[in-house]
This record gives sequence, C-alpha cells and structure tokens, in this order.
Amino acid sequence: MSLYERMQNELQQLAATGNLRSLPHIEHHDTKVTVKGKQMLNLSSNDYLGLASRTELRAEFLATIQPETFQPTSSSSRLLTGNYLAYEQVEQQMATLFGTESALVFNSGYHANLGILPAVCNAQTLILADKLVHASLIDGIRLSTSKCIRYRHNHYIQLERLIEEHQHTYEQIIVVTESIFSMDGDKANLSELVRLKKAYPNVLLYVDEAHAFGVRGEKGLGVAEEEGCVQEIDFLVGTFGKALASAGAYIVCKKVLREYLINKMRTLIFTTALPPVCLSWISFLLERLPQFKAERKHLMHISEQLKQALISKGFDCPSDSHILPMIVGDSRATIATAETLQKKGFYALPVRPPTVPEGTSRIRFSLTAALTESEIQQLIEAL
Ligand SMILES: *Cc1c(COP(=O)(O)O)cnc(C)c1O
Repeated sequence: MSLYERMQNELQQLAATGNLRSLPHIEHHDTKVTVKGKQMLNLSSNDYLGLASRTELRAEFLATIQPETFQPTSSSSRLLTGNYLAYEQVEQQMATLFGTESALVFNSGYHANLGILPAVCNAQTLILADKLVHASLIDGIRLSTSKCIRYRHNHYIQLERLIEEHQHTYEQIIVVTESIFSMDGDKANLSELVRLKKAYPNVLLYVDEAHAFGVRGEKGLGVAEEEGCVQEIDFLVGTFGKALASAGAYIVCKKVLREYLINKMRTLIFTTALPPVCLSWISFLLERLPQFKAERKHLMHISEQLKQALISKGFDCPSDSHILPMIVGDSRATIATAETLQKKGFYALPVRPPTVPEGTSRIRFSLTAALTESEIQQLIEAL
C-alpha cells in the first residue's frame, strides 16, 4: 500500500468512528464566533480573563508604540541577536511577581514542555508523570533519554510507592503534573506533592500551570501561588497564550536552571524568538495582572454555577475550575450533542479520543470572565 493509500484509508476509518478532525472556518466578534454562517457564544476559548476582547486595553497599549518603535520580528534566536530589551523586562517582571531567582521566556507552552525535560534529564533520571498530562509534556518525555513511568491520575499513593521503589536506583526523580488539568478541569494537590518532595531528598517537581496562570491565586500567578508553594516547585511553567491574551510561555526557577536551559534547551536555542512587540504586550498585561481580581472572582462564580447545573442534570463533573466537561461517552453521540448546542447558539466543542480515553468523549466548556451570568443561565437552560 502506498503512503497516500494508507493515509486515505486511515482518514476514512477516523470518519467512520466520528473521530475525523478538520480546521473550522471561523470569524470572531468579542465573545461570539460565526461558523458556517451562524453566530454563537464562544464557550471554547482560552481567553480566561476575557482580556483578548478588551478594546480599551488594546488602545492603551497601541498608544505606547509608533512605527519607529513597533518591533514586528526579532529576526533571530535569542542567543544570537534576537534578545531584545522587552525579553529582559518580562523576565524581570516575572521573577519579581513570583519572588523567584529568575524567569525564562519561550515561544510557546509547547516549546517549553518539549524542550525542558530533554535538556535536564539523563539516564540517571526517572520521570514520574501523571497519566493525564498534556501532549506537549508527553512529547518532551519521549525526546528525553530518561525512563518514564505514568502514575494513575492524581493517585499519590501509587506515586509514593513508585518513589519508594526507585529512589535508590536513580540520582533524580522528577514528578510531572499539571496544576489544573486540560480535559477534566480538576486540580492536582500541590501541597501533597510538596510533602512528597520534602520526604524524599532526590525528588523534584515540574508543574504546568497553563490553565491556572492568570486565573488562580491572589495576584493571578496560579495554583502554586494559591497554595503558597511557589518556592517548592523546581520547574514552574505556564503559558501567555491563554489567560494572558498573548503568546509564549515561561518558567520561573533558580538561576542555575535558567542558565543551564539557555545552554542546553534546543527549543529555545534553535528557533526565532517571538516578536518583541509580543513581549511588550505581555509586559503591559503583567503590570495589570494582580488587579484583575474581579475578573477572577466572576469566572469562579459562573464556573460554579455551571458545575452545579451539570451535576443536577446527572453528569459527573470532576472539575474544580473554569474548565468543565460534560461527559457523554460515545463519540458520535457527543458530536450530536455539540451540534444541538450549536443550533441553539452555543459554540461548545466535542473532545474525542485520542485526546481523551476511549468511551469518555465529552463536550468541553471553557469559560471566560467575559461571559455574563445571564449567558450562563441561558446555556444551562439549553442543556
Ligand atoms: C495549552 C497548553 C500547553 C501549550 O501551550 P501553548 O502556549 O499553547 O503552546 C501546554 N500545556 C498545557 C497543559 C496546555 O493546556
């Protein structure tokens, strides 16, 4: 069979099981989207604080740049000539906000998770990763030369057993988790992970806060801030593309780790740095991040309302956050449910295998602070 024939066959198979994906043609108007001529409320955005649709913020930012100071490209890797001042400014801001020795910016969360573990791991490292960590972490683990064992989701008894069993065989054990998980919206117990780290001297913690940065904690720094354990997380990673309405990602960490990554991390070294204008926008929003308390509170409030409604309609809802799954089970039934919701004006998307385990296809609601309480009420009535 030729490659083309094989691809055609596999695509047909995906279509037959309701798992074929395609790129949607989509137009955006603030919290609404138009798809196939129909305008709907966007319930699938990662603009968690609603900052991306705030015209007054854009205007204020644009007033700070002129054609002479607008920097649309870095034209180079940061290690060559791409390290514009805006980079150092954002890293200084991040280290100050978190109270860490240093911070380092990457082109995306995918670059961060793809590059960090392969850079720091070797054959004497064991990676213990939660069964449900994001694909970018899985790919980073695959690229590393270390052995990896996946523990059952949030199952810290099994995790501790694995640590006990392997603590003397490896120099270093790195425990990898998300703080808020992408698909169930549930939370890791960072305090318990910190307890494990303190109980076993060669354990390090890697926490991906992609869904929590901006949203959780007094200043919006994430679950680690909320739980008061920023200093205990060795690799505290998050992205700027979600709540911060921009692009890029960060790690906040010790100086020695930052310097090591600059020397060893291939997804930092061998790529053109993000446009400086993007870093200026990040910096502009970081200055204001601690002040978006009302947005964080409102987001928590409408999330709790939707969660209670899902539970009262008989759905299991493991979520502790603004990401709320409505687990239907079968892929085709899930697609049909999504289509019904879309007909009613709600753009919520089905998530199917292989993104989630077989038999747990779901509608994934991803709420933002730009949604109003009455819009959430209308959604609840439509369910
Ligand atoms: C979105 C996401 C990423 C990827 O971040 P990007 O900046 O979009 O590349 C990584 N990890 C998790 C948990 C995510 O949800």
